[in-house]
Amino acid sequence: TPAAGSPPSDPSKGVENLVIIGSGPAGYTAAIYAARANLKPVVFEGYQAGGVPGGQLMTTTEVENFPGFPEGITGPDLMDRMRKQAERWGAELHQEDVEFVNVKTSPFVIRSSDREVKSHTVIIATGATAKRLRLPREDEFWSRGVSACAICDGASPLFRGQVLAVVGGGDTATEEAIYLTKYARHVHLLVRKSQLRASKAMQDRVLNNPNITVHFNTEAVDVVSNKKGQMSGVQLRRIDTGEESVLEVKGLFYGIGHTPNSQLLRGQIELDSTGYILVKEGSAKTSVDGVFAAGDVQDREWRQAITAAGSGCIAALSVERYLVSND
Ligand code: FAD
Repeated sequence: TPAAGSPPSDPSKGVENLVIIGSGPAGYTAAIYAARANLKPVVFEGYQAGGVPGGQLMTTTEVENFPGFPEGITGPDLMDRMRKQAERWGAELHQEDVEFVNVKTSPFVIRSSDREVKSHTVIIATGATAKRLRLPREDEFWSRGVSACAICDGASPLFRGQVLAVVGGGDTATEEAIYLTKYARHVHLLVRKSQLRASKAMQDRVLNNPNITVHFNTEAVDVVSNKKGQMSGVQLRRIDTGEESVLEVKGLFYGIGHTPNSQLLRGQIELDSTGYILVKEGSAKTSVDGVFAAGDVQDREWRQAITAAGSGCIAALSVERYLVSND
């Protein structure tokens, strides 16, 4: 049931209650909660992930860890269901990228190529983009051997019991390598530099793990396949000698970080040094009153569909409270 006493939008002045930017699990969950609270949210879905709304999960096959789907569900199917649920409760969806935001004025101004909307509040749910190496055959093997998320894909039958490789020398890569040893027969960590950048504790865990081999001064140059067209290895190059070789692995995981999609807000709200939106601990509040953030754009640590959805819920409930207290 819709929450009692929630403020109606104010079309007479042309000012909306809430604009949500983004259509991943965070954006759609925020839209579901806000629509059910009669806030009539306007959602800019964007189409950055391959020209379609739905965010990062549109680029994957099976999602096995989203609660409620014991047999798993494909990423596009899960996102389509979230979208329909938001639509059913009356969220106004626009398949447009936001090109400009001004949160220094009141009301806030949000503009896409097709429209300009004024709003009392904004939820930024623009996600993050996993950095890729852009290997020549990367797209061909994306989700068929090449992945950017060990937690998401490590337990997949494709990788269980296999020899795998992880690229990177920081905390993300070392964590991914350790995580993958739960499922893999052996893990190779490919590090461009002559040392690891990860914290000392993580370095010790990796270097002392008999199931992980660290290759320093080594970069991945391409994916190698067998006659059946399946991934069978990675072409490597030694940075110091230029020597090339093939490492036989069934999977290549990127642990080279993410780029938060926060460019729209740069200079307007507080970001950390790598561009993640800073929210007040345990909340969705940003440094600007009325601007909230949810999902991967404010989460440098967990980056899961369920955590994004959870923070989208918190953001929408926070908006509801904010509007009532400012009424
Ligand atoms: P995103 O899903 O990144 O969505 C952001 C949205 O914002 C997109 O729709 C984008 O188009 C939109 N946007 C960006 N800029 C603009 C703009 N200017 N205007 C309008 N819209 C904009 N997690 C799991 O829990 N389980 C898994 O199995 C799993 N598998 C994954 C597989 C892959 C290949 C990848 C890449 C990720 C996977 N993840 C998985 C992680 C999960 O997808 C993310 O944690 C989650 O999607 C984050 O949700 P989000 O709503 O914050 O952002």
